[in-house]
Amino acid sequence: MNGAVTTLFIATGNAHKVEEIRAVLAAPGRVFLWQPDAQVRLEPEETGATFAENARIKALTWATYLAMEVCNLGVGWVLADDSGLEVDALGGAPGVHSARFAALDTGRRGNSPDAENNGKLLRLLAGVPPERRSARFRCALALTPVLAGRSAGEMAAATLDFDGVCEGRLLDRPGVSGGFGYDPLFVPVGWDRPFSVLGAEVKNRISHRARALEALRAGWEEGGGPAGVAGRPC
Ligand code: IMP
Repeated sequence: MNGAVTTLFIATGNAHKVEEIRAVLAAPGRVFLWQPDAQVRLEPEETGATFAENARIKALTWATYLAMEVCNLGVGWVLADDSGLEVDALGGAPGVHSARFAALDTGRRGNSPDAENNGKLLRLLAGVPPERRSARFRCALALTPVLAGRSAGEMAAATLDFDGVCEGRLLDRPGVSGGFGYDPLFVPVGWDRPFSVLGAEVKNRISHRARALEALRAGWEEGGGPAGVAGRPC
């Protein structure tokens, strides 16, 4: 890091994700911003067929915007996460639709409240025995340098991708509430309680997001910047 300040913009409005990301990536000289710090609200449609495609859509939308701004908050890098749950007994659903799983039935726009998503999952899995309730969380990360004066294509070419998986199983009723999303239902392999009960300390070591972030951190620290690409704040 050469003593310089590096500003990372996390392209999410989800405070839980930001906390998890900061817990792994915090380092001297590294500043974190997130969506509420920006003057605009950009909400790109997540039209990708995979988590990786959606993470890239979010990272590139924000990096392209910040690269055009005269004052881009000094952001050198944009980090976007796309993540979700794959349930084997449901053929991999809800997958990329995890955030709006309940809304798929009503046609409502936008994400659904966690309680509705969890309720739908429990209904679909009613009567499925414990040995067939396997599932996994997946996380894809896209890290894009903000390159002032460069095209979106050039920033896409310089984007780095990382991913992480956490295997587990689903309970037949929610555990104590806590965390976010499907945390009250998901018990990671090797544990007997859901993420909501295990808490941040355990989750930040073993989760899909923690694993993807660990891969990113290793790449970052090897070269003072991932793959030697230097971000250029304004
Ligand atoms: P995204 O914000 O578009 O990536 O949607 C992710 C959705 O997947 C969230 O709204 C949650 O429903 C679910 N999800 C992703 N990561 C987690 C996690 O760590 N715990 C619980 N649910 C998660």
